[in-house]
Amino acid sequence: MKLALVAIHIEASPRAVPLGPAMLASALRRAFGLALQTQVLDLFLNQTPSQCAERILESSPDAVGFSMYLWNRTLALETAAILKQRRPDLIVFAGGAEATADLRGVLGDPSVDFVLPGEGEELIVEALGRILQGASPADIAASVKPRPVKDLATLPSPFLDGTLRPADYSGALWELSRGCPFKCDFCFESRGTEGIRRIPMERVEAELELFAASGVREVFVLDPTFNYHKAGAKQVLRLIADRAPDIHFFFEIRSEFIDQEMAELFAAIRCTLQIGLQSAHDEVLRSISRTFNAQDFEAKLLLLHQAGVPYGFDLIYGLPGDSLEGFCASLDFAMSLVPNHLDVFRLSVLPGTRLAETAVGLGLQHQEQNPYQVLSSPTFSAEDLERAARIALGCDVLYNQGRAVPWFGLVQEALEMPPSEIFERFATFLEHPESEDLTQVQGAFIAALFEERGDDLMGSIAGDLVTYFGYAAELTEDGSASRHASFQHDPEALLEQLQAGGSSLEELVFSVPSRPCEALLSLQDGEVCLEILA
Ligand code: SF4
Repeated sequence: MKLALVAIHIEASPRAVPLGPAMLASALRRAFGLALQTQVLDLFLNQTPSQCAERILESSPDAVGFSMYLWNRTLALETAAILKQRRPDLIVFAGGAEATADLRGVLGDPSVDFVLPGEGEELIVEALGRILQGASPADIAASVKPRPVKDLATLPSPFLDGTLRPADYSGALWELSRGCPFKCDFCFESRGTEGIRRIPMERVEAELELFAASGVREVFVLDPTFNYHKAGAKQVLRLIADRAPDIHFFFEIRSEFIDQEMAELFAAIRCTLQIGLQSAHDEVLRSISRTFNAQDFEAKLLLLHQAGVPYGFDLIYGLPGDSLEGFCASLDFAMSLVPNHLDVFRLSVLPGTRLAETAVGLGLQHQEQNPYQVLSSPTFSAEDLERAARIALGCDVLYNQGRAVPWFGLVQEALEMPPSEIFERFATFLEHPESEDLTQVQGAFIAALFEERGDDLMGSIAGDLVTYFGYAAELTEDGSASRHASFQHDPEALLEQLQAGGSSLEELVFSVPSRPCEALLSLQDGEVCLEILA
């Protein structure tokens, strides 16, 4: 029997690794050997359903399983419909977070024969074992029940058994645990299972050594609260420093469990931390079974900041009890802690979560279909949600995509304008951009804000900062060899002043002479060099 397990990724990126399907393929290979040949296929959201179906049929499978998430449900079901049309005998099934959360909805689709809810490794072995023995897909659909894997040590590693070759991908997903000790109402992670189950340390060590030997450059750690068990987290961080010092790791952590030693261990490796802030209001977070202590949060972030560890936050708008003003205050609080990036999302009321059960009582109006986003609440009107969406867009483009960390604080302080207002105004500015070059758009926007205040001089210094850091980031992060840039003030003097600790735009205005010029930025030994041209 031939089986195709399909991962549909958002886009080609270092995160686009089919770890879930590969875990299932490993379990099947161990259980059935050659009696079941499993192929893992990578597809992408920019492919049409026909292209996806064509690719799947190339391997002439007898059965096809889709790994279904919120973002790929529609494409997966449209592809399944074409597959069934072309090959009515084909067995089609689905698993993954979306199929688990909306089991009835997915099972109700005529193209899906059965759903494997929850963790799939033991369930898929049982289901396909029964099919190999002659059971029908309808039998499976009628009898299958979620079965969390009690002991993760019993699962084979798809990396170590050769199912998933790290060298075939530009990044790796690295599962360290399953489950979460917290119970946030909007999240599906902790439902159905109690507590955390961990991957044994011997396997963690072996996979880490394989990543390092395979030349993996980025690893995304799958553990929603990596530092919850402090001792275990520190053990992994020491292992990374020892075995994989050149790989960049991405962790999701909770601020409560950071301590001085942990901050230093994070600082000793290449990593970026993501912290789920969601809101800076304790009463809002309490309504979704989370808590927040601003003092403790700031103190823990200070440890990371002082150790030089890059971190970013997640924020959600539309939470029950929150308002546009409350969201803006949360965003401004988050920005005051100088994150490396700030990811802002509209609340989704996901099927299967506690929030979905309480939404009516809370007065939350939300989409009934994927992506289940909130449409209004008693404290957050539809218009306010649209404004929050614009602020989120402005933040993403100006701050995250625009790599504004080095200059944003200086400019914001001089403008005396809250970040939320700057982001909202940038979203408006983006409606008629004068260039396709984001650095130029950022520079023009900032100059316009200063012009409004009658402070053109400060605007032109700010523009030079945006130009330098925007193009320097292009060189270091995007791998461009060199690039021309125009400055209004002496760029060499500007950099000297910044290195000497020039900490306000006002100081820079007084100390950097006007010198309109063209300059060449280039990368030499990993450092950005600037040469003023004639
Ligand atoms: S949001 Fe994070 S901390 Fe809360 S339940 Fe989900 S995974 Fe756990």
